Amino acid sequence: MIVLAGDPYEKEREAMVENQIAARGICDRNVLDAMRKVPRHLFVPAGFEGAAYRDHPLPIGHGQTISQPYIVALMTELLSVSPGDRVLEVGAGSGYQAAILVTLGAEVFSIERIPEVARIAEENLRRAGIPDVHVIVGDGTLGYPKGAPYQGIIVTAAAPAVPGPLVDQLAEGGRLVAPVGGRDVQELVRLEKRGGEITRTSYGGVVFVPLVGEHGWEG
Ligand code: SAM
Repeated sequence: MIVLAGDPYEKEREAMVENQIAARGICDRNVLDAMRKVPRHLFVPAGFEGAAYRDHPLPIGHGQTISQPYIVALMTELLSVSPGDRVLEVGAGSGYQAAILVTLGAEVFSIERIPEVARIAEENLRRAGIPDVHVIVGDGTLGYPKGAPYQGIIVTAAAPAVPGPLVDQLAEGGRLVAPVGGRDVQELVRLEKRGGEITRTSYGGVVFVPLVGEHGWEG
């Protein structure tokens, strides 16, 4: 990752971590450190840098968004990433979530439905000095069998139900985090695969753009 000398947003990033993330109960030190390191202002469109560390999502073009910092932190904590884990992200968007996962030591496969958005993710990751994410254009509701099985799968768009192919591509002991429910509001769920059995836990209401695809919503 590029370490920015005299980074003008360092103080804002620290305030984001303390006031929006740690203050709301995120306590995994590795997640907090990753959020401190990744320059989020390089993952928003030109002209929005000043808003990059605020407590809400931002538009990234093509009707899509970069998620609220707290939600990125919460989903990352729930994913319980260890260095060397293979992680599939469905919905590359800006590339920011992928950058956080790489900073935690994961090998990241990030799949994006909209080719222009995938290009934005690649460009943002390159600018931030994080070139080693596998960005793939495709329907992430089908997963990405070439990289399976995954210790972690994170879905960053709202699904009517957890897509079956993603559960199939989860490794033994693997975790899957996704917003699941209606088109307007969803609940954040965490699935864990143990001995072939799936346990499911809910973590409250969230709002995401729709997951569009064969095992998602119609476009
Ligand atoms: N994780 C992203 C970030 O860090 O900026 C935010 C993702 S944005 C909230 C959701 C993304 O999911 C959009 O870019 C959208 O195009 C993508 N998406 C929706 N349906 C998809 C699908 N079936 N496969 C892959 N990507 C999909």
